[in-house]
Amino acid sequence: MSEDALQYDAIVIGAGHNGLVTAGYLARAGKKVVVLEASSAIGGAARTGEISPDYQVSTGAHLISCLPKKVERDLKLAKHGLVWATRDVATVALDQGGKHVIIPAGGKKDIATLTAHATRDGDAWRRFDAQMKKFISVIGPFLEGPVPEMGPDLPGRVPVTTALRLEKLGPRDLRAFLRFMPSSIARILDATFEGDLVKGALALDATLGHHSGPKTPGTAFSFLYKRALETLGQGTGYPAGGAGALSDALAASAESTGARIRLDSPVAQIIAGAGKVSGVRLEDGTVFEAPLVMSSADPKTTCLDLLGARHFEAPMAKHIGRIRSQGSAAKINLALEGLPTFENFTDREYGGRLLIAPDMATVERSFIAAKRNELTLDPVMEMVIPSYHDPRLAPMGHHVLSIVVPNVPFDVEGGWDARRDEFVKRVIDTIALYAPDVSNKIIAGEILTPPEIEEKLGLKGGHWHQGDMSFDQLLAFRPAPGMANYATPVEGLYLCGAGTHPGGGLTGLPGKYAADTALLKEKIS
Ligand SMILES: Cc1cc2nc3c(=O)[nH]c(=O)nc-3n(C[C@H](O)[C@H](O)[C@H](O)COP(=O)(O)OP(=O)(O)OC[C@H]3O[C@@H](n4cnc5c(N)ncnc54)[C@H](O)[C@@H]3O)c2cc1C
Repeated sequence: MSEDALQYDAIVIGAGHNGLVTAGYLARAGKKVVVLEASSAIGGAARTGEISPDYQVSTGAHLISCLPKKVERDLKLAKHGLVWATRDVATVALDQGGKHVIIPAGGKKDIATLTAHATRDGDAWRRFDAQMKKFISVIGPFLEGPVPEMGPDLPGRVPVTTALRLEKLGPRDLRAFLRFMPSSIARILDATFEGDLVKGALALDATLGHHSGPKTPGTAFSFLYKRALETLGQGTGYPAGGAGALSDALAASAESTGARIRLDSPVAQIIAGAGKVSGVRLEDGTVFEAPLVMSSADPKTTCLDLLGARHFEAPMAKHIGRIRSQGSAAKINLALEGLPTFENFTDREYGGRLLIAPDMATVERSFIAAKRNELTLDPVMEMVIPSYHDPRLAPMGHHVLSIVVPNVPFDVEGGWDARRDEFVKRVIDTIALYAPDVSNKIIAGEILTPPEIEEKLGLKGGHWHQGDMSFDQLLAFRPAPGMANYATPVEGLYLCGAGTHPGGGLTGLPGKYAADTALLKEKIS
């Protein structure tokens, strides 16, 4: 052991929200924990920043819909400062003529606006929603804990309980389920709804977070998966102070139980020998030692860059190297001198999650453009005005507008330096189709292109979930077959970030399940 080595029971790599959750659970279990964060701020993609003085916004992630009550309670987040600005954000599909559609949230029966574009869509929604709930009863339980590894060690109860859940569907729904799973969301929505707007909004939801278009096979499953994850949460909303307030509360919680968080501490190497982990080395050469290392950095970085492919069997190393993790979303944050004027907006809409996706063809076009490294002419997007529920984010009467634009190429044709202004103009011009005065209200703004998301938020490859949340990269395939249970082939080294089950989003679940798994393993051995 080197003389200047710093010894802990557990090292957590990365102070994104999942790393902080892992640290919190381990510290509560009595471990001496250090969190090593590369950047000079905590939070990863869950942080709050300034657009300009006095205008604060969630720099990256802006909405929380899947953070379970258990995580909040276990880590005493309310005691450590977490206050919700709202937990009741409605999803609003924007219509240029002011006939906006509110997409009913799970369990809510509000279907009035759905029929504004197609009278039969109200009944269609009821049938669709009921069927989704049945399908969630099959896949939902897999999200409530670590997912079992497929293979010889698969506990016998897993196939049995899954078969029972499938049987419970009955022959008709079982057939529908088997047809649904590999389908494209376009196929499902075309067969279900008539209104273009509702189809566009649901197609956007199904494809947000991975590089797919509505016509891509498997996107029906992605839609279902997202709905299933949301059933674990407590409604869609955001904390007072933005997403960074969640990270602050998680950090305070972990520190209150003894964890130490060290910023500006990029890990350059995970030290392992004889099949066991023993610590990490920082870029500046400092060595930290621990028998347990939990990495919330993405799986490719952790396994191939920090540890090294030689620690894996060739097929697994190859699989990890092939994880699709190139980012395809941009973030634009605007400071506004007042609310933009949208036709027929009430409190519900201004405080809502605003989707611009007029139809499925527009969503598909934006995907195809991104695939060709081009910018689409009519971008689709998800917007929130967080200052509507949290006025302290901006001076009185002023607001901040937070915009996620999916299907934006990482390597845009011509380069981002040359195309940035054109991209921002296209996005603002598109918003102006719904709120014509938006341009006049802009005081300041910031944009994070996919390469800047990589650089500024610490997400390697710029992917917002450390890897596509697509059919072939979820459940037992996340991050790779044989590694779904957080453990790596190196004893004592676990993954705990969004690149692991159940995936990305501000859920804290990868962090919690990874900590549970590591603690259980220690108890058993
Ligand atoms: C623009 C954008 C918008 C989003 N919108 C939403 C949303 O509205 N709702 C939602 O639920 N999700 C959203 N997401 C996704 C969500 O933010 C992520 O899935 C989630 O934050 C991932 O959390 P994490 O802790 O697993 O990883 P990260 O947040 O990526 O944290 C990993 C941390 O590890 C650090 N790190 C990496 N390598 C090293 C190293 N070698 N040494 C030390 N530290 C290291 C990084 O600096 C980083 O701080 C969005 C993401 C982006 C980018």
